[in-house]
Amino acid sequence: MMAEPVELPSRLAILPFRNKVLLPGAIVRIRCTSPSSVKLVEQELWQREERGLIGVLPVRDSEAAAVGTLLSQGAGGDSSYGSTKSTANSSTEQQKQDSKNHQEPVHWHNRGVAARALHLSRGVEKPSGRVTYIVVLEGLCRFSVQELSARGTYHVARISRLDMTKAELELAEQDPDIIALSRQFKATAMELISVLEQKQKTVGRTKVLLETVPVHRLADIFVASFEISFEEQLSMLDSVDLKVRLSKATELVDRHLQSILVAEKITQKVEGQLSKSQKEFLLRQQMRAIKEELGDNDDDEDDVAALERKMQSAGMPPNIWKHAHRELRRLRKMQPQQPGYSSSRVYLELLADLPWQKVSEESELDLRAAKESLDHDHYGLTKVKQRIIEYLAVRKLKPDARGPVLCFVGPPGVGKTSLASSIANALSRKFIRISLGGVKDEADIRGHRRTYIGSMPGRLIDGLKRVGVNNPVMLLDEIDKTGSDVRGDPASALLEVLDPEQNKSFNDHYLNVPFDLSKVIFVATANRAQPIPPALLDRMEVIELPGYTPEEKLKIAMKHLMPRVLDQHGLSSEFLQIPEEMVKLIIQRYTREAGVRNLERNLAALARAAAVRVAEQERFSTAIQLSKGIQPMAASTTALLDSRLAGAGGGSSPSTGEVEMEVIPMDVSGHEISSFHGGSPIVVDEPMLEKVLGPPRFDDKEAAERVASPGVSVGLVWTSFGGEVQFVEATVMVGKGELHLTGQLGDVIKESAKIALTWVRARASELDISSTSDKNLLENRDIHIHFPAGAVPKDGPSAGVTMVTSLVSLFSERKVRADTAMTGEMTLRGLVLPVGGIKDKVLAAHRYGIKRVIIPERNLKDLAEVPSAILSGLEILLVKRIEDVLEHAFEGGCPLRKHSKL
Ligand code: ADP
Repeated sequence: MMAEPVELPSRLAILPFRNKVLLPGAIVRIRCTSPSSVKLVEQELWQREERGLIGVLPVRDSEAAAVGTLLSQGAGGDSSYGSTKSTANSSTEQQKQDSKNHQEPVHWHNRGVAARALHLSRGVEKPSGRVTYIVVLEGLCRFSVQELSARGTYHVARISRLDMTKAELELAEQDPDIIALSRQFKATAMELISVLEQKQKTVGRTKVLLETVPVHRLADIFVASFEISFEEQLSMLDSVDLKVRLSKATELVDRHLQSILVAEKITQKVEGQLSKSQKEFLLRQQMRAIKEELGDNDDDEDDVAALERKMQSAGMPPNIWKHAHRELRRLRKMQPQQPGYSSSRVYLELLADLPWQKVSEESELDLRAAKESLDHDHYGLTKVKQRIIEYLAVRKLKPDARGPVLCFVGPPGVGKTSLASSIANALSRKFIRISLGGVKDEADIRGHRRTYIGSMPGRLIDGLKRVGVNNPVMLLDEIDKTGSDVRGDPASALLEVLDPEQNKSFNDHYLNVPFDLSKVIFVATANRAQPIPPALLDRMEVIELPGYTPEEKLKIAMKHLMPRVLDQHGLSSEFLQIPEEMVKLIIQRYTREAGVRNLERNLAALARAAAVRVAEQERFSTAIQLSKGIQPMAASTTALLDSRLAGAGGGSSPSTGEVEMEVIPMDVSGHEISSFHGGSPIVVDEPMLEKVLGPPRFDDKEAAERVASPGVSVGLVWTSFGGEVQFVEATVMVGKGELHLTGQLGDVIKESAKIALTWVRARASELDISSTSDKNLLENRDIHIHFPAGAVPKDGPSAGVTMVTSLVSLFSERKVRADTAMTGEMTLRGLVLPVGGIKDKVLAAHRYGIKRVIIPERNLKDLAEVPSAILSGLEILLVKRIEDVLEHAFEGGCPLRKHSKL
């Protein structure tokens, strides 16, 4: 196919190749991006049905021309087309575009190669919409340019063919000179091929080429496959005469061959001579050179020296210094590439970074200032603050007193963390929080031994490294969330940490040398005290933070959260005001939590929304200025695109088209804009609440809707998020007398379900079961009790009374009162025992809009903790026996009473 002489038209569209030559037989893949080449490809190749030919003409920019020799003109060159010869104005323009960064005109070579497209693909760049083409071109035959002229944005040349006709070729092949030259060329080429073949196995096909392709084409194909200079490529292109071409090609192939052979020889020699260590040296030398080239010439030698300096100034105790120094000596002997080098370095870095001596200076503790700062940062919490002041006072009198570790216990968002950081402030010490939530592996606390790959120090040592002093206030956050399993017992490691006798020499497995933790002040937090292992609890003093009433939350929001949130968003009350009424609505409708974390989050969401509007407002005013008097945005963008797409050389893009602007949507509702115009602040109102926070998440009707059918009762439970209202659902179905329980229940709650069912069955005859004649409740029936929020694990005995109520409701087919919630443990005989978390539960009931709360009589004393404002809005019903509960839970009293003698 390649041997077929091609029919050449008299005119060809010209694609310029800057400083490159396409030789016949070569195949190149190019990307056309300039407007003129894109246009050329579009018109000459893309839009044609049968793919036409184009001419590829080397051009050199004037820079290259100035450096190299002047235009190469092959023998018999007719004329050269310098830019000065280009006639049309637009073509000068075009050349400018082509040589974007070379503003100088280009020099066209006077010989080129006709090419055909083997493959075309079209792409549209996003977001500019610019069209580009990828073209695979195959060089076919040489031509010379008779005349170059512009056609629209690109050039067209009148050409004449340079290659020999078939007849001429046949004649030439008889020429003894050519026969000799061909033979020589083929021999050299063959030699090259066999050398290459030794190196890699892939050149098998080239040999076939050598036998099938006529020699005048072979010469081009071979040369095209080497990397040679532009000048040499040009002279190859200019070698129209077959003899010249063959000897030129032989010379180039031979040169290529020689260079390969020489390189081969050198590597062989080098490989033979170098010993292993020399080789390493050489490689390292090379690596250094590469690093230098890359700009990161950090020298390993200096590095180790710097590390040693750092270690020296770390103030390690003598025995540890000895240990570290031994490790450093080991490191010195290692090569950076050696396994173990980097782990050894990381280890030494840690030793050098740890605060062996560094402390934050403790200034004289001013108790009054501490109290003021506590009051300033936290609303309410009088008792808690008092206890903290006492704690500080003891420290003041006896700075090294080993008092108990304070442990703040309470639901999330009640201020545990921020109280701990206030303690640090008062003591002017640094504060570091270590999260223990979900820590199951002892190694998280104590570190992994260094023999493990990827071993790390434990969280305490890591925290000390981060904080950089050895006497910080360290918060052990969520100490109740550590559990023990097969990977050891984190609690026992913590025990060692908190034990004043043992923590003088805390042993982290990774560190492998003791570290003195005795100067650290530990403070812990937990959601609940109960899961904390007793031994650990024994070392701590529990301070409970039970959660806030809505009124307290409102105060906290207005006085503490709002100023902070505004500040964090770069706003002030000049920009955003959230009236008290709205904060109340947020508390009622969007948050049902014991703490204030979600409240703070919601306030932050409002602040964000406001910040966006303030920023938009600023942009809005600039946009108005910009858009004054110019066409609508959409139109000007399309104009911009059009002019880019048209790519016309002289395409004068209107200056307005270049203004890149953002369009601010104008459909913002009236009050948003107007609230800005007067410079008045955004005042949050109900519509804005709904817009930013979404529809209300809670309302008071919930309980009523859920207890709308018999079998559902309202309980009060205690979770790690504080008190919660918990609905209990019971249903009955055809079955074999089984009890099904769902809702992720623990063992204790499962047992109280059995007790509840037993109690109800024992009283079955006294139940008012009008529709069920069957006194045995379980005959041919299954009972299913479910605790919704099925994904949340639940446990504890306090749901006992709630389950009984639910079952009684189910069997008596009477609805439970929606305004009444209950809590209490029940014995098999129906006694109601006291339960924990009364304050939280009462608060939760209040949050839910419950009006009546049933609690065990013996919990009466706990009501003292509940703010009177809450109590006054609730009817508290104290009960001794389950019958009392039922009496209060149903409208019109207990369904049992009618029949029972109780
Ligand atoms: P916890 O550690 O108990 O989960 P945080 O200490 O993180 O809670 O408190 C959450 C947020 O609520 C913090 O921004 C905190 O300052 C704030 N906050 C909590 N209680 C109060 C309070 N009584 N007065 C002022 N701000 C409070």
